[in-house]
Amino acid sequence: DQSIGEVDPEIAAVLDGELARQQDTLEMIASENFVPRAVLEAQGSVLTNKYAEGYPGRRYYGGCEQVDVAETIAIDRAKALFGAEHANVQPHSGATANAAVLHALIRAGDKILGLELAHGGHLTHGMKINFSGRLYDVASYGVDPDTFLVDMDKVREAALEHRPDVIIGGWSAYPRQLDFAAFRSIADEVGAKLWVDMAHFAGLVAAGLHPSPVPHADVVSSTVHKTIGGPRSGFILSREEHAKKLDSAVFPGQQGGPLMHVIAAKAVAFKIAGSEAFRDRQERTLEGARIIAERLTAPEVAQAGVSVLTGGTDVHLVLVDLRHSELDGQQAEDLLHAVGITVNRNAVPFDPRPPRVTSGLRIGTPALATRGFDATAFADVADVIATALTQGAGADVDALKARTARLAEQYPLYAGLRQY
Ligand code: PLP
Repeated sequence: DQSIGEVDPEIAAVLDGELARQQDTLEMIASENFVPRAVLEAQGSVLTNKYAEGYPGRRYYGGCEQVDVAETIAIDRAKALFGAEHANVQPHSGATANAAVLHALIRAGDKILGLELAHGGHLTHGMKINFSGRLYDVASYGVDPDTFLVDMDKVREAALEHRPDVIIGGWSAYPRQLDFAAFRSIADEVGAKLWVDMAHFAGLVAAGLHPSPVPHADVVSSTVHKTIGGPRSGFILSREEHAKKLDSAVFPGQQGGPLMHVIAAKAVAFKIAGSEAFRDRQERTLEGARIIAERLTAPEVAQAGVSVLTGGTDVHLVLVDLRHSELDGQQAEDLLHAVGITVNRNAVPFDPRPPRVTSGLRIGTPALATRGFDATAFADVADVIATALTQGAGADVDALKARTARLAEQYPLYAGLRQY
């Protein structure tokens, strides 16, 4: 029985190279994290071999006695963690979870109302060539042009004008908390269902550091791999009244066999999410984002035309506004990459530059918090980012890179891990 190094040295080299990249650079993509070894073990296990169409106790295949245990544990832990009446842990990803939500709640041609993609919404909330834009009649709300905040009066106006069947609360790039109670009352006023996509901030909710959408929404969808820091996948929570429809929308509506190795890994991630260490990590995640926002609002940074959307953050990410900077989003992303920090360029609302260039950066702290970063380390990385963005093309890349390399060394990742 040969190892991957023997069977396929080319792919083995990719695994090695990627492990080194993750260890040696600072990961600040807001949607990424590092899973613990226990999650890697579950995902790399023999559970990948098992077909288990259906749900625990109601499978269409034999031999499901072990995987039934794993899925039941994952469901129970998800419900307990978020205080939900029902959980479905089978979605392969956030996008398939969202497809199942709409499949369960409405019919093709019905109307949805979500945050505009260019203002921080997600592809699955109604983007034109996504399934959501092709199957459903899409209306959107945007952020306020002055404050860059979601204005609930404007959401209500849009809901009264468009009379949607489903209202979507949730985002991929927004640095503040949404008012779920206000969303609920607007949904009730127009007779819509309320779906909250908490993919980004679910870890903060689990730790009790962000308001929970669960008491307000009909359905809540999420990924497991962002702030939660579990395996790449999705899950759905709902009130009991939607349970049957949701389960049948996931299987057989959207998916075939569930990924049982990933479901076992979700169970592990949900267990960890109930721990004190997890809460501490989410606290450092928030603290790190606040430290970065503060550093990027210093006077000399403002003088270079760099600012922070909404002036700060309540979550795990900061949106940098480069509309008045000499750097565009692409150049800023490349510059930070050169100094050993990985971020993604991101359109800011009302962005004058094209989507492939953009005038913004999205900078997140979950992965560094998982590495163990504390306030001092976050202040150091914030200073590297501020220096690079302020000096632009004149930045001393080698000196800044030496600082990020030192931080990477000081906070080791996957020490002693071999990929094969
Ligand atoms: N929903 C939101 C709000 C997201 O930000 C994302 C991830 O980008 C998704 C859904 C989709 O998740 P996935 O990439 O797992 O399909």
